[in-house]
Amino acid sequence: MYKADSHRYDTMVYNRLGNSGLKLSAIGLGLWHNFGSVDPFENQRAIIHKAFDLGVTYFDLANNYGPVPGSAENNFGRIMATDMKPYRDEMVIASKAGYEMWDGPYGNWGSRKSIIASANQSLKRMGLDYVDIFYSHRPDPETDVSETAQALDSLVRQGKALYVGISNYNGAQTQAIIKCFEDLKTPFVIHQPRYNMFNRGVETDLFPVLKKAHKAAVGFSSLCQGLLTDKYLHGIPADSRAAKSTSPFLQPKQVEQTLKTVKALNEVAANRDQTLAEMALAWNLREPELACVLVGASRPQQLEDNVKALDHLQFTEAELARIDQILKA
Ligand code: NDP
Repeated sequence: MYKADSHRYDTMVYNRLGNSGLKLSAIGLGLWHNFGSVDPFENQRAIIHKAFDLGVTYFDLANNYGPVPGSAENNFGRIMATDMKPYRDEMVIASKAGYEMWDGPYGNWGSRKSIIASANQSLKRMGLDYVDIFYSHRPDPETDVSETAQALDSLVRQGKALYVGISNYNGAQTQAIIKCFEDLKTPFVIHQPRYNMFNRGVETDLFPVLKKAHKAAVGFSSLCQGLLTDKYLHGIPADSRAAKSTSPFLQPKQVEQTLKTVKALNEVAANRDQTLAEMALAWNLREPELACVLVGASRPQQLEDNVKALDHLQFTEAELARIDQILKA
């Protein structure tokens, strides 16, 4: 029987989401990888337990996480039922709809039909009455933004979501949907963009929009799928994401292309007495709009490393300049 660490709230940082009442742990756990039907279930339990014991309160899922799609929510639901039920009110659980999930015209994108059906499926898979945050996973170019906003709003009115979020919307698309949420008085609290040292486009496009609207972001792929760690410095380990056929999103070619930069960044991290993963997460959190950085983990130990980022969040001007110089080279 799992019993949470009584010291779990001692060191984690909790950041408020913009002008909302909700706070998230500065480090959140993402279940995109490592929680599918192809992954060992006991390891999944160990990762959830470790995250919660370290003070992580934010757990990020989506309808399609697996493989197979839906299996991450199923597995998370099993862990909720057996281990985490007593802690439900200490957790912020999120899911999303918007990427392809089931056959036909309704299993994808952002229509009212698709969003509401998908949310109902997600709740069933996770065995939950409600999620804390439900996201539109990506903008739908063929559906009016007001329809997607209204579908998310309906989930809140039906008690199936406490708050709503959006993901992968650019600055202009974000501005447009925020206007709809304001009209509907929807509790929209968060944007989830990709953000890491190698993906900085949102700094100029999205973050100014969020700042103006007093809204927060939670960054995904904070370690660029593991590239911004020390794991590939001496080759590609057989059990790493870049080597696994079930993770087609990170290719060995990307490891080779980034190696020189990663080596230089690793030196900066070493001079700060941090691992590269710790420094990369601390660097993301220097952005005031970013309330939380999402990390994936293939084993509990990685989370122990990642939360150490919070021990040293400050950067000198010289360190920031050196990092910029390395990234531009
Ligand atoms: P990361 O960039 O954090 O990469 C996670 C991977 O990096 C791990 O699986 C592990 O890979 C490796 N890793 C993590 N910590 C360490 C460490 N300390 N030392 C060495 N290696 C480490 O995240 P993801 O790309 O997985 O994204 C995080 C979450 O963001 C997802 O789970 C999901 O919730 C969300 N997301 C949202 C998207 C969206 O469209 N909204 C898109 C993508 C992600 P390994 O297996 O090699 O050990």
